[in-house]
Order: sequence, then structure tokens, then C-alpha cells
Amino acid sequence: MNKMSDMKKQYEQYVMPTYARQPVAFVRGEGCYLYDEDGKAYLDFVSGLSVNNLGHCHPAIVKAIQDQAAELSHTSNLYFTAPGAGLARLISENSLGGKVFFSNSGAEANECAIKLARKYGRDRAGEGKHRIIALENGFHGRTMATLTATAQPAKQEPFKPLLAGFTYVERNDIAGLERAMDDSVCALLLEPVQGEGGIYPLELEFMEAARQLANGHGALLILDEVQTGMGRTGELFAYQHQGIEPDVMTLAKSLGGGLPIGATVASTAYSDVLTAGLHGSTFGGGPVACAAGIAVFKELLAPGFLESVVKKGEYMHSKLNGLADAGLAGEVRGIGLMLALELKQPVAAGIVSRALAEGIILNNTSDSTVRFLPPLILEEGMIDRVVEFLKTALKE
Ligand SMILES: *Cc1c(COP(=O)(O)O)cnc(C)c1O
Repeated sequence: MNKMSDMKKQYEQYVMPTYARQPVAFVRGEGCYLYDEDGKAYLDFVSGLSVNNLGHCHPAIVKAIQDQAAELSHTSNLYFTAPGAGLARLISENSLGGKVFFSNSGAEANECAIKLARKYGRDRAGEGKHRIIALENGFHGRTMATLTATAQPAKQEPFKPLLAGFTYVERNDIAGLERAMDDSVCALLLEPVQGEGGIYPLELEFMEAARQLANGHGALLILDEVQTGMGRTGELFAYQHQGIEPDVMTLAKSLGGGLPIGATVASTAYSDVLTAGLHGSTFGGGPVACAAGIAVFKELLAPGFLESVVKKGEYMHSKLNGLADAGLAGEVRGIGLMLALELKQPVAAGIVSRALAEGIILNNTSDSTVRFLPPLILEEGMIDRVVEFLKTALKE
């Protein structure tokens, strides 16, 4: 029995069956490639779900983690640490200018944002101001509160009753948003580009309407940038494309360069809503994850880096459009290096399996949607290889 089938058996026996895993175990990663136990290389166009945005084992991140782990790995939030201070400052100065709460995941970052919004609503107008509006087909996490914000019936149904006070509106439906809004709303929670839902960017007009309606009703605009943040769309944060600022933004996924970390960022006006004793996390903002985050920021802020993401994103978008123009696929969606290709038949899972066999890692968000989240450091030749693969596979 080889190691892979042995591992699979152990997973079947000892790990809860919550994931449909691909039949491969990676043992090593470097740059845009992962390697299995036989040394076979796989070109990674998923990046651990937009976590390894700087590729695998980026030397600066490895060094930051190793150095910090050898120095001090955990103290609890009863004390101060330099990496926590440094990462909070980098996030704040490059985004909303206010304060940060650190946690360990995207769901926790959103959980904190939801609690902040509820507390803000209560401070402002009492218990009645507690409603939160989220979008149909969104994704905000798997905890009970973030699952309630995740308006996907199949994910929610088995766990009812959900949290009270959530309303869902169709993406880009300004009239629907207007109807749903009143002064009982404490927050709107949106992804600038719906990621798990299949890469659907929100229209600028909708974002502007959301900003205005939030202002008009004294509600917070919370942007979930867990997937879109940290350079994925070609700006540090996706809201920066659109010239509107949220009151609260959530980050996770690639913030820790592969280590688990979440961050909830508030503008100055809402930075002190959550006070001592109202929220917490044992591991949140630990020194090792924060040291990795600081290293990630340094790379993203290097001159020309984000411009290169824009350029490669446009290149890939146009290459995928070529497949659509040739009649091989439907719509191409997305911004920067957060892209999706809509297929004309429900064969996305088959395309993903075939890609894996040929040494390319892809992901599908539905039967007919292939999603691309390549490392931001990739080269154009890698895009050519993936598009050539798709061209051949889609012809057959
Ligand atoms: C992945 C994701 C989450 C959940 O993050 P976890 O770290 O899995 O809890 C939340 N929001 C968005 C937009 C995501 O893409």
C-alpha cells in the first residue's frame, strides 16, 4: 500500500467527512508549485483558497516565522507583543486608519464584525437596532452567526434555528436593498466580490447605494475582504477600486502568509465600540502569525508588486475571454487574479480532476464554474499553460 492510500484510509477512519478531498497528498511546496510524494509537480491555481498569495514557502515568510518561533511563539492577549503592534499598524495605515481586532480565521473576523455592529446599534438606538443585511449567495463563514449571514439555503438548512435579525438581498439589487433598509438596521455585510459563491463582483452603483443607505440609516458598512483582500484583486483591498470606504473590514486567508490569522479593522469612528471584556481570543494576534503577516505586507507593498498583479490579471482575463470568444466557454468574471470561467456544460468537476492528473490545480465553485486564485507571483507562461489545458479539455 502506498502512502496516499494509507493516508486516505486513516482519514476515512479518523477524520470527520466534511470535505470532498481530491485524491492527492502534497508533501512540499515552492513558489507556484506543489509536489506529491512521488515528486510530481503541480502548478497551483488555487493557492490554498487564496491563502498562499505569495506562493509556497516564500523565503521572507519562512524566515519571519522561523525567527519568531525561535524567539517567542505565544504569550496570550494578557500582554503586549511587538509583532501584534507592528501588524495592526500596517493594516490600519494601509486601510481604514482605525483599530484592529485579531482572531484566527475569516469566520472569527466576521463574527467580531457582527458583534461590533450589534453593540454599535445598541449604543446608538437600543436593542431594536440589531438587524443585519447580507447578500444572497454570499459566504461569510461556518460559525452560527456567520452561517446565518451566509445566505445559501443548503448550508443553513441543517442547522436551524439560525440567529435572529438577518435579512438577505439579491446582489446588485439596489431597489431591494432600499426596501430592506430602515433604522432598525445596524449593518450591511457584503463581499466586494462574492468568492465562494462563484466570483461575482458587486457593481459600483450597488456599492455606492450601499454606502449611501448605510449613512442614511446610521448603519455600518462592513466589507468582508477575507478572500478579496491582501492584493488578490490588484489593489491591497478590493474596496480601493471603487472609491468608497467601509466602516469595518474583515481579513483572513492570506494575511498570515499560510498561518491562521483573522483581523477585523474599524475606521476611527468605530474603533472603540468593543471595549475590555466584550470580545477576545486566546490565540488571536499571536506573535508568529503576526510576524508572518508583517512579512506578507512588506512583499505586497514593494514598488510595482500590485501593478504586476493588475497586469497579470488582465492578461489572464483576456486569455480566458479568448476561450469564450472561440465558443468553448461562457462568461469570464472577476478582478485581478480572482477569476472564474463559466462553462457551457456542467463539467467543471471533471475539468478539475483532469487538470489534477495533468499537474494543474484548479477549483470549481459549482457544476459549471471553474475558479482561479493563482499565487500573485505567477508568470505569464503559467497562465498560458493553464489556458492551453482548458482549451484542449473543453474541446473534448
Ligand atoms: C473563506 C471565507 C470566509 C471564512 O474564512 P474561514 O477562515 O474559513 O473561517 C469568510 N468570508 C469569505 C469572503 C471567505 O472567502
